[in-house]
Amino acid sequence: MGQTIPHWLEKQNDLNPDKTAIEFAGGGRLTFAELREESRRLAGGMLLQGIQRGDHIALLVSNQLSTPLFIHALSYIGAVGVLLNTRLTAEELAYQLDDADVKKLIADKEHLEKGIKAADLTSLGADDVYSSSRFPKVEEASDLNTSLDFSDPYTMIYTSGTTGQPKAVIHTYGNHWFSAVASALNLGIEAKDKWLLCLPVFHVGGFSILMKNVIYGMPIVLFNNFDAGKINDQIMENGVTIISVVTVMLQRLLKDLGRGSYPESFRGMLLGGGPAPEPLLYEAYEKNISVFQSYGMTETSSQICTLSPGEAFRKIGSAGKALSPAELKIDQSEPGRIGEILVKGPMVSEGYYKKQKRENEFLKTGDLGYMDKEGFLYVVDRVKDMIISGGENIYPAEIESVLTGIEGVQEAGVTGIKDDEWGEVPAAFLVLENNMPLDIEKIKAYCREKLAGYKVPHVFYILEELPRNASNKILRRKLLETYERNNEGA
Ligand code: ATP
Ligand code: MG
Repeated sequence: MGQTIPHWLEKQNDLNPDKTAIEFAGGGRLTFAELREESRRLAGGMLLQGIQRGDHIALLVSNQLSTPLFIHALSYIGAVGVLLNTRLTAEELAYQLDDADVKKLIADKEHLEKGIKAADLTSLGADDVYSSSRFPKVEEASDLNTSLDFSDPYTMIYTSGTTGQPKAVIHTYGNHWFSAVASALNLGIEAKDKWLLCLPVFHVGGFSILMKNVIYGMPIVLFNNFDAGKINDQIMENGVTIISVVTVMLQRLLKDLGRGSYPESFRGMLLGGGPAPEPLLYEAYEKNISVFQSYGMTETSSQICTLSPGEAFRKIGSAGKALSPAELKIDQSEPGRIGEILVKGPMVSEGYYKKQKRENEFLKTGDLGYMDKEGFLYVVDRVKDMIISGGENIYPAEIESVLTGIEGVQEAGVTGIKDDEWGEVPAAFLVLENNMPLDIEKIKAYCREKLAGYKVPHVFYILEELPRNASNKILRRKLLETYERNNEGA
């Protein structure tokens, strides 16, 4: 047994029973007492259905008001939640159901049919699939956990599958607890705080806000769909103080905001999940919006490095420092040089399901970065995506950031292609705004101004859209293949 703490919802029920816990943008609101009560009633229903401590229970749900209830119900029983990405196909879901040894699947109305189809492809039967809207509830559930053990597994969340097959990361209660506390030690918690959750909860970044909700006793506003106008209204008129976003959300919020500005009460945006182009960060800066850029991965239970509020404007482009009590190292003997990012801390998962546990103290992230003289981290790119051209290292993200700064370029992806002379050379794949024609020679000239000659893409291809995975991340390894498929026979 590891360290135990009182169940976090029991705690909030004692400390803040009448405080609002969740406001649902689709309508509805729960206090902490109600969140506890409803979660316990669902837990009772789960017991009735034969769900037991240690069972792997898959959730195929979007951000509904009932979603946090299921997540907390699992903790009252000690079952492990396998959070599935609702954008996966039935075949992809079936792989994860098998791989994660799932016993039962709970799906919301919108995803029930796909859930049943996926279950049919595995050893699960129709009896093992439940509709979340018809899940039984029990008036007075008994035998529920009153405490949580830090070393017990709570969730399994698959990585995005950007570099290969997604892997099931196991998170313990301790991992989630320390992730929430580490974030609070950086951003602080203020009495008026209200966090807006519009990231899907099946990603660790979204899930972590549900943990902050019950660990801090802080209200959250839950969105099921990303709607920039409605989200900006929440910041302007409903006292939202912090929001977690990925790059494309930041883009859309700024566009919707136009010449407007956020109220004093708004503290800022926690930005993570992937690289952020510098022009966008400067656009936010000009609008006086604090962006706390962060670095993390599913394996680190959300961000492990974050820019602090005091440095948000001074260190634009950096992902900050390792949160307390995490540690960060660059696998490189010379300071300031680029090397693999290594991380350690109580929020870092011990490993993947059914795979050997990590032997090293530090997790090798597969990402490249460097630290400036003051110890601030700059994430450069993934180890696997680095292009070596005539002995020079080239990082696609740097070129993509330059390309997306060009007017008329909506998106850009860069990858290496074989070249007889240089071994590999960078190739750029562009999606143009409104399919506007662009002068490639002008783009090349612009790149030559901004980038060393060997980094300038040798070829430019136009795509209707970039290949992305279910987490919306660019699949660089599929760029060339997508272009060739689109232009077969042309
Ligand atoms: P897979 O591990 O299956 O290939 P994935 O790594 O994309 O997929 P996630 O855990 O969702 O799965 O994403 C974590 C990754 O996102 C990091 O390893 C890193 O490559 C990228 N990332 C996160 N934050 C940043 C950042 N600030 N800048 C650049 N990249 C980032
Ligand atoms: Mg990864």
